Order: sequence, then structure tokens, then C-alpha cells
Amino acid sequence: MEGKEIDRLREIIADSDNIVFFGGAGVSTESGIPDFRSKDGLYNLKYDIPPEEIVSHTYFVYHTKKFYDFYRDRMVYPDAKPNAAHLYLARLEEEGKLKAIVTQNIDGLHQAAGSKKVWELHGSVLRNYCTRCGKFYGVDAILNSTDVPRCECGGIIKPDVVLYEESLDGDVIAGAVRAIQQADTLIIGGTSLAVYPAASFIDFFRGRNLVVINKTATPADRRADLAIHGKIGEVFSSL
Ligand code: NAD
Repeated sequence: MEGKEIDRLREIIADSDNIVFFGGAGVSTESGIPDFRSKDGLYNLKYDIPPEEIVSHTYFVYHTKKFYDFYRDRMVYPDAKPNAAHLYLARLEEEGKLKAIVTQNIDGLHQAAGSKKVWELHGSVLRNYCTRCGKFYGVDAILNSTDVPRCECGGIIKPDVVLYEESLDGDVIAGAVRAIQQADTLIIGGTSLAVYPAASFIDFFRGRNLVVINKTATPADRRADLAIHGKIGEVFSSL
């Protein structure tokens, strides 16, 4: 990609020294993980029960086996690798320009790319815990089970992922909001900004440059200093 928008993004990044990136599922589609709301996203596949309902707290509690059948199939991608977007953001942090990533993703790919300061608003599929004794488990405990994964104490193991109807972690909210408040540039990428309260955190931004990089239009485009409609991995690769 080349053009005025890419030149402007280059300039903004060169002039910034406290960049925060706020991202969503679109950051990982180029790693082969489907998002929720794109044409080929999970919400447009035909299920008897809508995915929004399956990944809810109520469904987890009352239909735990069916929850896990869907979850293992559609939410966990153990072979996915960081793409150009994850790698570029990790490099920006290493150069001291980027101070934090605030992500709605649960795939751990930012950390796999080398990013250190990552606020995971919705948790991570890589962490799991026993709902009875609290013992922690890796993702293999989920992937290697065919039924409901159970702890050695007999308790049900739950992913450390924020399901619909569950609240976000207070410390994570505080850290994410603080990072956004202190940023001179906020880059929003790969998110429909449809999931609340996560999407509302961008309202804490008071810095100079608001940038949006998304395949399709978002509610933040209107107030952005720069909105680029394209694939985020391709955009970052052109810088
Ligand atoms: P979403 O599915 O609502 O929106 C994704 C957005 O990204 C869309 O606007 C789409 O046009 C855009 N997009 C897709 N591919 C892109 C690309 N290559 N470059 C730029 N833009 C691209 O996702 P959301 O806003 O993150 O909200 C969905 C919720 O689903 C989140 O809470 C998240 O926790 C969860 N989720 C996570 C993963 C993951 O961890 N990888 C995957 C699916 C869903």
C-alpha cells in the first residue's frame, strides 16, 4: 500500500512518543482466526443457537458440554501465528514509541509477537482455572478434553475469558483507561467498536492524533484525524 494516508500515518508515528493501540478481532484475521462481525465472521455462520448466546455466562453454566464443543471448535486456534500487525506493534514498543496495547482479543498473539504491555480486556484462552479450587491450567487442558474439562479436584475448568454477562476485571480496566488517557496517539484497529464497555474506553483519549485502521467503516471514523480502510497487516507492512 502507498499513498497520502500511509504517508500521514508515517508522519504521525514519527511525531509520537506515547502511542497506544486499541484493537479487536480484525487484528488476528490475517493469522487465520475469524472475527465475529465480518461477512465470513462467526456471527454469519449458521448455528442453531447464535454464537453470542453460546459464549455467554448462562450458557456456560447450563450447557457446559455444548459450550465447550463450540469453544474448542471456534474460539481456540493453537496453531495461529502472529501476523504483520502483531509484529509491527511489538517493534514499536521495543523502539519505545508504543506504551501499551489494549486488546479485546483472547488469542495471546500480541504476547507471542513479543509485546510486553498488553491489557487483555476479555482475558485469554491460554489461561484457564478450576471453578472449585482455583488451580490454573494451560490451553492443553481444554484442547485435550473431549467432554467438560475437569480439574484433578473434580471441579469444572473455566477459561479465563470474559463471557457475555460477565464483568471486566477492575485492574485491567484501570490500566487500559490510564494508558489511553496518557497517550499522545491512539491507533484503533480491527474492531467494529460494537462490544461494550470495551468500545467506550476510547472516549478517554485526550491526545493529539486519533487514527483508525479498519477494513470497514467504524463509529470512530468521524472523529478520527486519519481513518484508513484496509487490512491492518498490509497497512503496517507498508510503513
Ligand atoms: P468484530 O468481529 O466485531 O469486528 C472486527 C472488525 O475488524 C470488523 O469491523 C472488520 O471489518 C474488521 N477487520 C477484519 N479483518 C480485518 C483486517 N485484516 N484488517 C482490518 N480490519 C479488519 O470484532 P471486535 O470488535 O473485536 O469484537 C468482537 C469480540 O469478539 C471481542 O470482544 C473479542 O473478544 C472477541 N473475538 C476475539 C477473537 C480473537 O481473540 N482473535 C476473535 C473473534 C472474536
